[in-house]
Amino acid sequence: MMSEYIPVPLSDDEIRSTVAQLSEHFKVKARWRRKSAGEERKSVYRDIEGRGAYTNLETKTMVFGAKVDIMVILHEFAHIVDTTFPNWRMETLLGFVSAHGKRFRGSLEKVAQYFLGDAAKYDWSSEYPSIVKWAHSKGYTEHTVTKLWRAINDPIEAERMKMHLDECEVCRGDDDSE
Ligand SMILES: [Zn+2]
Ligand SMILES: [Zn+2]
Repeated sequence: MMSEYIPVPLSDDEIRSTVAQLSEHFKVKARWRRKSAGEERKSVYRDIEGRGAYTNLETKTMVFGAKVDIMVILHEFAHIVDTTFPNWRMETLLGFVSAHGKRFRGSLEKVAQYFLGDAAKYDWSSEYPSIVKWAHSKGYTEHTVTKLWRAINDPIEAERMKMHLDECEVCRGDDDSE
């Protein structure tokens, strides 16, 4: 059994050099900043204990929580890589390409492969449920459900998550319109 990844919060200097390295390699200039105090959480699912982040695609700016770790940076940077595709804005607007669909997964796979040396080293089981399922099908993780959902040991809470899956395209994974 592969060992479970434990997030390590990064300093500003570590973020700076990581983003510079990724920008250089993928030939796209990414910006970043920390979330301002009291800034509204943009990503409810991933914003666990300050790890959460989001990306403004127009300005290519990643916005990080206080405890951002390398895996979160790689996820957000994959969104930046998605903006290097021609017509990405119009395709996104029209719903031809979805935020966490096929194109994003391919970008994340490439980013993880480059930075970690092996895409299987990425912390797939902290991803959205649909991405965990996809990563499992690619052989990147032994798990089919997220770390968070694996920990649920209560039938009512499990049912609540099932209901979320029924309603949420991102978690269910059929937002893949590409
Ligand atoms: Zn994302
Ligand atoms: Zn969801």
